[in-house]
Amino acid sequence: AILANQIAAGEVVERPASVIKELVENSIDAGATDILIELDKGGHKRMLIRDNGKGIPKEELSLALSRHATSKIQDIDDLESITSLGFRGEALASISSVSRLTLTSKTADQTEAWQAHSEGRDMQIQLNPAAHPKGCSVEVLDLFFNTPARRKFLKAEKTEFQHIEEIIKRIALSHYEVAFTLKHNGRVVHRFPAVVEELKHKRIANVCGQGFVDTSIAIHGEFEGVVITGWCNAVGQGRRTNDLQYSFVNGRMMKDKVIIHAIRQAFEGMIDSQTYPSFVLFITMPPDELDINVHPAKHEVRFHKTRQVHDLIYKSISDALLLSAS
Ligand code: ADP
Ligand code: MG
Repeated sequence: AILANQIAAGEVVERPASVIKELVENSIDAGATDILIELDKGGHKRMLIRDNGKGIPKEELSLALSRHATSKIQDIDDLESITSLGFRGEALASISSVSRLTLTSKTADQTEAWQAHSEGRDMQIQLNPAAHPKGCSVEVLDLFFNTPARRKFLKAEKTEFQHIEEIIKRIALSHYEVAFTLKHNGRVVHRFPAVVEELKHKRIANVCGQGFVDTSIAIHGEFEGVVITGWCNAVGQGRRTNDLQYSFVNGRMMKDKVIIHAIRQAFEGMIDSQTYPSFVLFITMPPDELDINVHPAKHEVRFHKTRQVHDLIYKSISDALLLSAS
């Protein structure tokens, strides 16, 4: 089981940012409304994720660290209609196999919090009483301490931090109802307060800058259960980077060729081939109309009705462009 964990770790845990992604997604799956992410030295040294979600019951703490222990799928048919972010039950096991991990949690009906600690290959998990409000904290120390080859591939502190910052931004864009605080080396770097749906643009401005919101057109489109909302612009004519391109499908961040193609097509004639439109796009659709389990890192999606999704994005942006021109 240990070997299997380390192989899985190679797929899920590439760098500190992939750890952060998995852990923050777990917090969101647990219904957290407030998530703190604390890092030391770009996450190499220490990462702490603290949430106020439903927590893990004492008797499930060790189980949560074992491979293929997920509380999110009851049987294989559930795979078809997944709505939670994580579902393979691999993240915690993988991360703990390549770090010193401490999981501390309290559920609403426990009077005491409990803590499980594991160190790399040594999967002897000890349980101890601890102090913690309702919710869960995961502390990851010395990532890759027992896999020197992998450790060697870690980049400079600043680079790893930038990857983490990018992950947090993406997650913050798709979960405006959750508050996020990001601290690095003891300093608060980002604070994104929770906002209600109608004030979603405040979160977008908070993450992407007021300038982006001010220069963007709002998009809205709907067809046969597929809904598209968001903001996009092509005003950055001189803009040659594509770092402000965010798309989310049912709350999951993904960069899909179909989406990008549709957006480019809508802007055809307005931008040259070197310019990238900027966008924050949210797509929701019935879960049985897409495949999300195509890659362990879960970055990819396959739409069953590719044409329909493509055309809806294209039409929504074209309509918004016409409206803004009139
Ligand atoms: P997955 O998310 O794919 O189910 P993980 O390895 O990421 O697998 O997590 C294993 C299990 O631990 C989850 O199914 C969940 O029950 C529990 N868990 C993990 N993180 C949290 C959290 N922050 N709050 C509550 N439960 C959690
Ligand atoms: Mg998970």
